Amino acid sequence: LDLKKLQTISEARVWLQSCPWADREGVLPPDTVLGLVPTMGALHEGHLSLIRSARKHCPVVVVTIFVNPIQFGPNEDYRKYPRPIEADLEACEREGANAVFYPTAEEMYSQASSTRIIVPPDLTATLCGPHRPGHFDGVATIVAKLFHIFTPAMAFFGQKDYQQAAIIRRMNHDLNFCMGLCICPTVREQDGLAMSSRNAYLSPAERVQARSLSASLFWARDQVAAGQRDADKLVREMRERIEAAGPCRIDYVECVGDQDLSPRPRVEGRCVFALAVRIGSTRLIDNVMVDATGTKQ
Ligand code: AMP
Repeated sequence: LDLKKLQTISEARVWLQSCPWADREGVLPPDTVLGLVPTMGALHEGHLSLIRSARKHCPVVVVTIFVNPIQFGPNEDYRKYPRPIEADLEACEREGANAVFYPTAEEMYSQASSTRIIVPPDLTATLCGPHRPGHFDGVATIVAKLFHIFTPAMAFFGQKDYQQAAIIRRMNHDLNFCMGLCICPTVREQDGLAMSSRNAYLSPAERVQARSLSASLFWARDQVAAGQRDADKLVREMRERIEAAGPCRIDYVECVGDQDLSPRPRVEGRCVFALAVRIGSTRLIDNVMVDATGTKQ
């Protein structure tokens, strides 16, 4: 099956109206079959795991590749974000996606476009929220637009962006999108570093140093499994471990509740240890879920 390449919203609508699912499964109602995988491209194994999961659940899979300008702050990496579109299209084809949607910024945001989704403050009070003002409003807005364009039955996101997944889950409920959301586990390099398109920015020395992030998270998870419940203490020691690995700027290391993302000084029930650290000019995020009963992620 050929990969359908869609660059405009009207192309996407025409393609959807052509009932692309009819070939594979007989004609099914469209709201039961389409799986959406939203990405910013520079696809790696983390993204591919989402595409594979979508293919398992949905006979028609659409990958979107869009570096969304409104989710980047003025001093962030919008301009330098990698955009290897030819390699990405090949990866989508190899993975058996049915279509890839890769619009321009002008296509998604015409000059008159100014309506935004505002994420409730309770979900942005911790973690990346205070460090990236407006970021999650931009994420929620583009995801809502993609949901409207494709009306998927299911959408696939990574646990690596834990706060993003929680925010989209809330939006899905609050705005009655009623999508099935699938949050897929974080895919890691052999040494534990969470895969990210931004890892390409790291120098060889920074790449070695970056191991300290996942290592500190795994250490905290082991400590919880061994009975430690003092989250503040764990966070302090995680910071020391990360700082000992080399020069960096820690945006945050936090323990929050897995649902409401509110700060947890003690580990109770299911919690998430999450961090954002700048190594050189590269900002990396990662997290692990822990359970006070000792169950691992
Ligand atoms: P991005 O292209 O960084 O916006 O990511 C697109 C989607 O892929 C998001 O739902 C991410 O959470 C997910 N993702 C990114 N990196 C990983 C990873 N290492 N493992 C699993 N999912 C990931």
